[in-house]
Amino acid sequence: MESPPGLDPGRRWRCGACGNLTRFDVESIERVRRFWHLDLSGGGTVDAEERLEVTVGSVTCRWCGGSDAIEVVPAPGGAEAAP
Ligand SMILES: [Zn+2]
Repeated sequence: MESPPGLDPGRRWRCGACGNLTRFDVESIERVRRFWHLDLSGGGTVDAEERLEVTVGSVTCRWCGGSDAIEVVPAPGGAEAAP
């Protein structure tokens, strides 16, 4: 699994309006370096991806449609849960 843009590992979003923890629309601008593994036809797959720069424009709750009550909270098993 990967972390969504703008969210550090061990953190998660929470909608303070309705309690949603798992469904969000995220608008972001990202500068990304990808290692493209191509075959001789020119098509291929991405073997590795590194986000060089991320700007999050908005995070919107899919349940209630709100974007002004989104908070960042520790995730279970995240860094702050460790002893
Ligand atoms: Zn909500």
